[in-house]
Amino acid sequence: MRVSKETVVGIEYTLKDDKGNVLDTSAGHGPMEYLHGASNIIPGLEQGLEGLSAGDTKVVVVQPADAYGEYSDKLIQRVPLDRFGANKVEVGMRFHAETNLGMRVLVIRHVDAQEAVLDGNHELAGKTLTFDVKVVSVRAAELTELAHGHPHQAGGCCGGGGCGSGESEGGCCSSEGSGGGCCSEEPAAQQKQGGCGSGGCGCSH
Ligand SMILES: [Zn+2]
Repeated sequence: MRVSKETVVGIEYTLKDDKGNVLDTSAGHGPMEYLHGASNIIPGLEQGLEGLSAGDTKVVVVQPADAYGEYSDKLIQRVPLDRFGANKVEVGMRFHAETNLGMRVLVIRHVDAQEAVLDGNHELAGKTLTFDVKVVSVRAAELTELAHGHPHQAGGCCGGGGCGSGESEGGCCSSEGSGGGCCSEEPAAQQKQGGCGSGGCGCSH
């Protein structure tokens, strides 16, 4: 079977930046599974894997526009220190905040006497990424996987904690907005029959 829409693909990968520094790797975690055609992974990598079969290896180079986007000055903002109240403000601190582009992780880049400079760019924004990839498995997706938009392992959806256990908004697997989380929309009866709980969910790292 070849990698195409509605297949679940297992890959081993090493991600490097354009200087050859290793940024991420599946080594030590086992292969990562994703649902092809469901935006589980960055568009450039998904396109690069299209048509491959289990056992194939490939070097996929992805430009920023097909990865985490270009670095944008619009995501830099200066915030008066008094807006942080009693909280400590230090370079390198990260937090979630609402921005005009939605919920973002912001990093404090600089602090002076009056202001902190916050950066909402993804840490890989503006970077050309090189993936050394090996396809280890390709299988047809199950209907529930297609409905949820992500792969399931061992027949289950949400990982260890199970469903409805107070994971952040939208359930364990919710990927920013689209379609809700794995646990949010099914009738309770259906969830009990192996929808959730055991196996873990392929969308985490
Ligand atoms: Zn699910």
